Amino acid sequence: MKVNFVDLKAQYKTIKPEVDQAIAAVVESCAFVNSRSFEADFSAYIGAEHCVGCGNGTDALFMAMQSLGLGKGDEVITAANTFIATAEGIGWTGATPVFVDCDPVTYNIDPTKIEAAITDRTKAIVPVHLYGQPADMDAILEIAKKHDLVVIEDAAQAHGATYKGTKTGNFGKAACFSFYPGKNLGAYGDADAIITDDQELATRMRKLSDHGSNVKYQHDFEGINSRMDGIQGAVLSVKLKHLDKWSDRRIEVAARYSEGLKDVCVTPVTVDGVRHVFHLYVIQVNNRDELMKHLQEQDIASGIHYPVPLPATPAYTGLGYKSDQFPVAYGIADKIVSLPMHGDLTDEDVDLVIAEVKKVVK
Ligand SMILES: *Cc1c(COP(=O)(O)O)cnc(C)c1O
Repeated sequence: MKVNFVDLKAQYKTIKPEVDQAIAAVVESCAFVNSRSFEADFSAYIGAEHCVGCGNGTDALFMAMQSLGLGKGDEVITAANTFIATAEGIGWTGATPVFVDCDPVTYNIDPTKIEAAITDRTKAIVPVHLYGQPADMDAILEIAKKHDLVVIEDAAQAHGATYKGTKTGNFGKAACFSFYPGKNLGAYGDADAIITDDQELATRMRKLSDHGSNVKYQHDFEGINSRMDGIQGAVLSVKLKHLDKWSDRRIEVAARYSEGLKDVCVTPVTVDGVRHVFHLYVIQVNNRDELMKHLQEQDIASGIHYPVPLPATPAYTGLGYKSDQFPVAYGIADKIVSLPMHGDLTDEDVDLVIAEVKKVVK
């Protein structure tokens, strides 16, 4: 690849001595299933009281919702245009995901369409800070308060993003961050952290992640096994120190793309008062297939996030939604394309991508 979508090799080269040493220390100590040190680092970074490390972001969403008492008969509102993990987390508690259309400018859940989806079974809203831009939290929290709903943030794409000066992860009762390798803060395998200020909830989630137990062989309830590995915690503590610098570079890259592409296609809009950390840089074009084919021929990676809105995905067609309920999400699904985005892109890489996009998008 001339320009990679994410470049974990390039990133590793910049932190190799630190990461190698951190991994070796875990191997020496044989503390293979313990991420307490990273949990302390990450809760301090977010500015929240508690952090529970776990196996992956999908488990995290499930564990947060299950620990908040959500289950069969409950409805949980989320965005129609998110990754399936958000809805899986809801579904695995026994609750039903209820999809709401997105805003045409930010691609985040449209708060003006949330109230119409609320029924007497609705218990929670799961906003997703999609592509790295915080959702409209003031509006969402106001609706949640009015209808007595709990808010759980899906912050899997928004490590270090801020909304009116506060980091994502501080708005909901709990917030789930994914450390899948390709995320803005990525482990060397699967990992996740749940953030909360609620001590009791943190204890319940930690027990759930460890066989319903916080004292060896005393199982208060049936849990699962979804803990964070020591090696992942060690890698993440090293990488966390670099995260803000990498986010700054993502923001610079996004600005360079937008300057170069503003007259050719729909470029991302960052709303006032937020720090958008550009997990993904998503444009809209009318000839997406042609553009992606051309980029591939030039050895430039691209992607689609996401090609099929969740209500139209086989896993959820049984819920019986109609496409006209989601005019925005369905309308953009054939137009959106994600360009290479990571903290090690050079200006030359970005300029090359811009030049190639311009050759086929008019
Ligand atoms: C990555 C991601 C998750 C969690 O994914 P895992 O791979 O299970 O860590 C959840 N929601 C969104 C929006 C994501 O992008």
